[in-house]
Amino acid sequence: MPATILDGTKIAADIRAEVGSEARRMTQAGVHPGLAVLLVGHNPASEIYVRGKIKSCEEVGILSEKHAPPETSTTEELLELVHDLNMRDEIDGILVQLPLPPQVDAKKVLLAVDPAKDVDGFHPMNVGALSTQRPGLVPCTPAGVMEILKRSGIPVAGQEAVVVGRSDIVGKPVAMLLTNANATVTICHSKTRDLPGVCRRADILVAAIGKAGLIAPDYVKPGATVIDVGMNTITERRDVEKFFMGNVKRETAFALKGSILMGDVDPHVAEVAGAMTPVPGGVGPLTIAMLMSNTVKAAKMRRGVGVLAS
Ligand code: NAP
Repeated sequence: MPATILDGTKIAADIRAEVGSEARRMTQAGVHPGLAVLLVGHNPASEIYVRGKIKSCEEVGILSEKHAPPETSTTEELLELVHDLNMRDEIDGILVQLPLPPQVDAKKVLLAVDPAKDVDGFHPMNVGALSTQRPGLVPCTPAGVMEILKRSGIPVAGQEAVVVGRSDIVGKPVAMLLTNANATVTICHSKTRDLPGVCRRADILVAAIGKAGLIAPDYVKPGATVIDVGMNTITERRDVEKFFMGNVKRETAFALKGSILMGDVDPHVAEVAGAMTPVPGGVGPLTIAMLMSNTVKAAKMRRGVGVLAS
């Protein structure tokens, strides 16, 4: 039986609706959650992401403001801007869109964000809070992975989970969240021996690698849940034939655009897995939904949960 496809678009819409009603309730109580987005220069992909984030804020009723300093900005200028945003009470979340221009010390800028407003959850204070199970802001994509599992009724406690990828923004926080949820977690990376064998142990397999279709059917235990975080653009016809032969929709999209988006998981895994997320329409939509959720959470944490609790 083919795998159940876990619909990230629907789950993200549910989360946005919940966040929207919470944001409205808070606004009526006199606290309008606010997000500031910093977009430095003119990276086309970043501009698309930021547009999506601002649009989502409008939809759920979060105040948003975009700061777009020039490509030539220095570390000091960005630190000053972050400092100003840290000081403004009506700003609950600060998001620094990465990548920053090469002359900027990105780590220094991220470190300057007030941890209470760090809606990306990248600040070492929030990383520490996650690893010690204290309240804090959790990175959006990993939090989205957990929401997919939770809202799809997939048990985590006691399960074998394998995370492929150990980046600070996806792999490590996903592994920490799964550990906190009582899974038995293995983290894999480019030096892991026998990756297929380790992956086959997984009841829950999370791929956060950045290599199109690397996770093949023989990496997957029959019936396992496979979460595909990867977002890769393929431009070679032979890749389209390898992964999407007979898929009219994807073949047509490739013929029209010369490229298509795919994850780290070979779509043929659907013949082995019990459930899996598609790309697009899986983890991707959750990232912005969780940013909205984090902004409301930051507003509550900063301004007093007791006063605002529903
Ligand atoms: P990253 O920083 O490049 O990390 C990739 C990880 O994969 C590294 O830990 C690397 O191992 C490991 N890896 C690379 N090749 C491997 C191989 N052949 N076998 C086993 N492990 C291998 O990437 P990232 O930022 O975590 O992102 C991962 C993917 O998720 C990308 O496709 C990215 O676009 C996507 N992403 C999606 C969203 C979303 O909203 N859906 C958000 C963020 C990222 P080493 O540590 O040994 O180098």
